[in-house]
Amino acid sequence: MKCICGSGKSVKNCCGADNQNPALRTRLSKKFYNYENNKVISSSEFKEISGAKINTFRVEVLFSMVKTPLGEMTLPLLITHNHKALRPLTLDGVVNHRFENGKDVCVYRCMITPIHCAYIQIHLGQDVHRKSRINKNMIWQSAYLETFGNPFESLFSSEYKNGYIGIYHHTGEKAKDLILSSKYFIGSKWNFQGTNELIGYEYAYFTDISKIDSIFDLMAIGMCDNGANILIVNDNDEGNEIKVLRSTKEERKETLKVWVKPELLHINGFVLHKTKTLLNVSTAEYYSWIEMFCPNIYRIPVNADGKINFKLNSLDELFIDENASAPKIGFMAALGSDLEEIELLWQDNVINRKVFDLNCLNNEWKSIWENNIINLASQTFSQTIFK
Ligand SMILES: [Zn+2]
Repeated sequence: MKCICGSGKSVKNCCGADNQNPALRTRLSKKFYNYENNKVISSSEFKEISGAKINTFRVEVLFSMVKTPLGEMTLPLLITHNHKALRPLTLDGVVNHRFENGKDVCVYRCMITPIHCAYIQIHLGQDVHRKSRINKNMIWQSAYLETFGNPFESLFSSEYKNGYIGIYHHTGEKAKDLILSSKYFIGSKWNFQGTNELIGYEYAYFTDISKIDSIFDLMAIGMCDNGANILIVNDNDEGNEIKVLRSTKEERKETLKVWVKPELLHINGFVLHKTKTLLNVSTAEYYSWIEMFCPNIYRIPVNADGKINFKLNSLDELFIDENASAPKIGFMAALGSDLEEIELLWQDNVINRKVFDLNCLNNEWKSIWENNIINLASQTFSQTIFK
């Protein structure tokens, strides 16, 4: 039996038979906010992946063109392979590289599970891309992905079939019956925090966490049962408590599994971090990387008072209508040193937003991003990864 951590090793040579409980997933996820130098989380439950073999996977990556304070960029949103999908948790940098034989590749480095960092290589001129039929700002791109072990077989991956990702809606018994009998989801007027009402548009909320069975699961989806405050911390270790929706796992006992075209999902925004480096780089004291905001929260935008229809197939599986009409909602981003901006991400109100997707190229952001980890490490990187 292969270990659930995705090392590719057998259970007994890896994390052990005692640690094969999928609920471990969120015990790791919540540690994501402890910024380690390399952001690869080690925990007492899981051994480090680094001893495992490096594997190469043929993948399809969904990218979106977004306008950010860093300028226009292609953001990787979802990586699919062999009926599994992973949502990148970070974007650590992008480089273009030319092989000696003249072939060009573009490489993205991302953390794709709390314990896997991956290099996504696009061989320009060889790998194919196609425009999404559903969202004209998105493309599907074939690529190679290199990482330790097999993250697609880890407990962090979602199911993916025929262009649909399998995610979950957790709710109470009454709401579940209502959803199933009406054949649609209505939007929620609440923001990420669940404390302020959005105006003019709403979201239907889903998550890739299959069962809400701990307070860590609640925190991952922006809720809290013990009081209603969570601490947000910026890159300078300054913190602020913010209010989030108070809920309990007992109130979220009923689960609907929902199949969704990933192009319908709203991009949650990101935080650009500037983290002190332990790398042996004389030119900089820090490196930058992008944290995808609330990666366990999946939302489909809907007009106020709108609804999202679904169909049930013969197996009673629930498929969201791929033509679900989505209002255009801005892309939000925050600087990791700026507590106020991070709070704006939580408040999620595009009307009050300060930093968003209009033409607001920002020189401070740009100079921070130039020190991304992949640029700084590109010397050792090109020796090890381009074989
Ligand atoms: Zn393991």
